[in-house]
Amino acid sequence: MVDANQARRLVILGTGGTIAGRAAQASDHVGYVAGQVGVGELVQAVPALAGLPLDVEQVAQVDSKDMGLPVWQALARRIAVHLERPEVSALIVTHGTDTLEETAFVLQQLFGPGKPVVLTCAMRPASALVPDGPQNLSDAVAVARHTDACGVVVVCAGQVHGALEVVKVHTYQLDAFDSGDAGPLACVEDGQVRSFRPWSPAPAGPTHGTSLLARLLAASALPRVELITSHADAGGGLVRALLAQGASDADRVVRGIVVAGTGNGTVHQALAEALDEAEARGVRVVLASRCARGRVVPHPGLRFADSAGLSPVKARLALALELLAA
Ligand code: ASP
Repeated sequence: MVDANQARRLVILGTGGTIAGRAAQASDHVGYVAGQVGVGELVQAVPALAGLPLDVEQVAQVDSKDMGLPVWQALARRIAVHLERPEVSALIVTHGTDTLEETAFVLQQLFGPGKPVVLTCAMRPASALVPDGPQNLSDAVAVARHTDACGVVVVCAGQVHGALEVVKVHTYQLDAFDSGDAGPLACVEDGQVRSFRPWSPAPAGPTHGTSLLARLLAASALPRVELITSHADAGGGLVRALLAQGASDADRVVRGIVVAGTGNGTVHQALAEALDEAEARGVRVVLASRCARGRVVPHPGLRFADSAGLSPVKARLALALELLAA
């Protein structure tokens, strides 16, 4: 029996992404193919990790633009197994940056507080002259071993972000992630973690827990929740097309719509009318904001349920998971 205080083993799970990407030229930072290099090779590229008690496992090898339920199921299955191992203190997941915040959110909902699950990534492929992946992986290991660490976090460019707040904000720069108004949890400086605020794990959502995990693992698809943006000159055509599709094809029934509203959750009148029709037909409508910063500040005039500060893509997942758990 391993004492919890002696649990030191780390598990690194690879899922692909740019961190595992390869380009024909070392100078090419955009024309590469993601998900080419095995996670074992990524670990070997970081000399500082040699000799650490590590288990390394390739769970998937995808460009995270194509992330979805099958990879989340494979990942969740392996994470659940490794979290149960008493000798394992933390897990690290290598992942593409494009949908990193979505996987972080799903894992946070599934596993919540507890042993750290640290996601990391890169903006440059492994074949780059100066890749950022090895440093990010090294930082992720430092975070995973830190005493403050708990729950699901993201490590990129020397910063540690919470799963609920993290969002990709830049298409190219190495420092591509931000935590909005909350700010990062910590930074990593020469392998030392410096916390900016308590790492209180995000409170478990209504869908959190082992029953959600069981349902996710058994699902053939997530309940269909679509994301629509309100904008100048918007109309209700997309919403009505979704309703019509559901009426003619039972497998395509839309169960929820997240609307990325303008500003503080305002929605173009023509779109709002169609969303009212959707609600009248039993479709859940949730309101987020398309603004990069801030959240929808609740007030009595809000026409639809607000996303409780979640970004549109996370609000979409929150609703899909809630419907899955119902
Ligand atoms: N398309 C890549 C991915 O998300 C981008 C990256 O990892 O930076 O897998």
